[in-house]
Amino acid sequence: MLDALGRPLRNLRLSVTDRCNLRCEYCMPEDDYTWLPREDVLHFEEISTLVDVFISLGVDKVRLTGGEPLLRRDLSSLVRMLSAKPALRDLALTTNGILLADQIGALHAAGLGRITVSLDTLHGDRFRALTRVDALPAVHEGIQAARRTYGRLKIDTVVIRGVNHDELGDLLEYATSVNAEVRFIEYMDVGGASRWSPDRVVSRREMLEVLTARYGAIEPIAEPESSAPADRFALSDGRTFGIISSTTAPFCRSCDRSRLTADGMWYLCLYANRGTDLRGPLRRGETFSEIAQLIASAWIARDDRGAEQRLALGGRRAFVPVQDLLRRDPHLEMHTRGG
Ligand code: SAM
Repeated sequence: MLDALGRPLRNLRLSVTDRCNLRCEYCMPEDDYTWLPREDVLHFEEISTLVDVFISLGVDKVRLTGGEPLLRRDLSSLVRMLSAKPALRDLALTTNGILLADQIGALHAAGLGRITVSLDTLHGDRFRALTRVDALPAVHEGIQAARRTYGRLKIDTVVIRGVNHDELGDLLEYATSVNAEVRFIEYMDVGGASRWSPDRVVSRREMLEVLTARYGAIEPIAEPESSAPADRFALSDGRTFGIISSTTAPFCRSCDRSRLTADGMWYLCLYANRGTDLRGPLRRGETFSEIAQLIASAWIARDDRGAEQRLALGGRRAFVPVQDLLRRDPHLEMHTRGG
């Protein structure tokens, strides 16, 4: 099923909770938040039913995210339900890694396919300042556990000028040491990034310049069929890394992602102001085909190009600069929508 710009419905990011155990300054900078009401949060059976509907319409990749997904109690039970669906080719998890060492055995046994750990700095003091939690050793333990269990993993790093822009090479070396591929993400002006400003964005071009200065020539890896957000590159010694340039060179034209929040709101774009409520119809007892129809008609009409439109704006500031607005509608937050 294709949207108005010919993009398939394929990739679902499932936020299982809006809660997080970090307070990263680029995502959740405030002291307190308006949380989704607990009674609104979908039960695992409800998530599983909705995933079946999405699969019937073409979704074959699901990524569990949040908030911090490992805060959702008994996440491995959900993984078990999802991994039992043969049509799901790819079941992945994005986590900050703090609770990973404890849970990885259960997640792996339940059928989780892949793991991405978010890690922005190798310095304990920077980690503390950035996240307001002293948890870097726990993240390292999580990464080591992922390496032991899965052999390979990905590491996602948001690059912010004045925070970690001088760590690109060191993070690449670290990734090599744990058999990971690192993906450097441009700082985005999304929901909770109310402190975003253009001068703090380190562009893909600048990242490549810095890495070229350290490693010599860098070659782009051609992947014409890929809808992955990262462009991949190779160093002359064969090591690879990715750059997700959502801010300076968005990939809207190939974006097959949509997002389901923990309370069942479905968003067609990270920058969308409005989503489609799927919890309501589900709990009212609408049938599988009625919900499928609701999803299909929204997808067929989808013409979102949020990141490209933001880029075209010029003179940018944070997408939702007003904290009060975020409080009134927590669905606008990145931690509710899933990164
Ligand atoms: N808690 C999990 C984690 O840390 O990976 C999953 C949710 S988190 C919102 C998902 C990803 O979004 C993380 O890699 C995070 O760094 C990224 N992210 C959050 N705010 C961002 C921003 N303003 N720009 C770019 N990436 C951002």
